[in-house]
Amino acid sequence: MFKTLSSSGTSGQPSRIFLDRENAALQSKVLVRIMQHWLGKQRLPLLIADHAGVMADRQSFSARAAGIQGFSFLGRDPCHALKADMSCDLPALLAFVERYQDQPLLIFGFTYMVWQYLLPALEAHDIQLPQAILLHGGGWKKLQALAVDNPAFKARLGGRAIQRVHNYYGLVEQTGSVFVECEQGHLHAPLFADVLVRDPLRGRLCERGETGALQLFSVLPSSYPGHVLLTEDLGQLLGEDDCPCGRKGRYFRVLGRIAQAEKRGCSDAY
Ligand SMILES: [Zn+2]
Repeated sequence: MFKTLSSSGTSGQPSRIFLDRENAALQSKVLVRIMQHWLGKQRLPLLIADHAGVMADRQSFSARAAGIQGFSFLGRDPCHALKADMSCDLPALLAFVERYQDQPLLIFGFTYMVWQYLLPALEAHDIQLPQAILLHGGGWKKLQALAVDNPAFKARLGGRAIQRVHNYYGLVEQTGSVFVECEQGHLHAPLFADVLVRDPLRGRLCERGETGALQLFSVLPSSYPGHVLLTEDLGQLLGEDDCPCGRKGRYFRVLGRIAQAEKRGCSDAY
């Protein structure tokens, strides 16, 4: 065993995922491969909407830390925009902006962290990042409580001139095989994973556009049982091979969590 991941449930048992070296390496490799499709091959300067301390415990990684570490491979010269108390690390942020503002750069963060902590800092100092690509994930539940949906999220980013925005969806149990949002706002299944939607009570497959529980498939797990997982997330299959963006495969949307399901995951558990 090389590393243990845990999804940070707010009650009950967090799930624990045991990785050996080979499986961990495979996850990193596939994550990079999937993301290169969306970001291009060059490693861009990376602004992280979190603090460095979240990475400190290397033995028992939280989902948040695993996400940050996984995505850090995609960028270079990482800058943590926040301090441990979630206030802005202003000197670090300003130094990063001064250096990279006029070139393509990558922003990575959990959706709630971006909204609640990074965007206010960018707004307070009137920072515009017209060449930035934002990659964000980790759940909408906290933002839904604030009545913030995807259009409202993108509109506020537009105020900072950030136009290229990709939400991603995935499970810590299937780290590496992530589903990324295209220009049409649809989450796409990559080559290494797939999705089905099932009636949560009867188990039958839902029709296109019908709401049900998401069942996720990944070819990656080799040191723990995680190839097929029925999630507690609700979603809809929107189509297959016919997204207007031109990408093939199934595409879908996530609508939230089945009522009464335990809160798990990344920024929702912060
Ligand atoms: Zn698409």
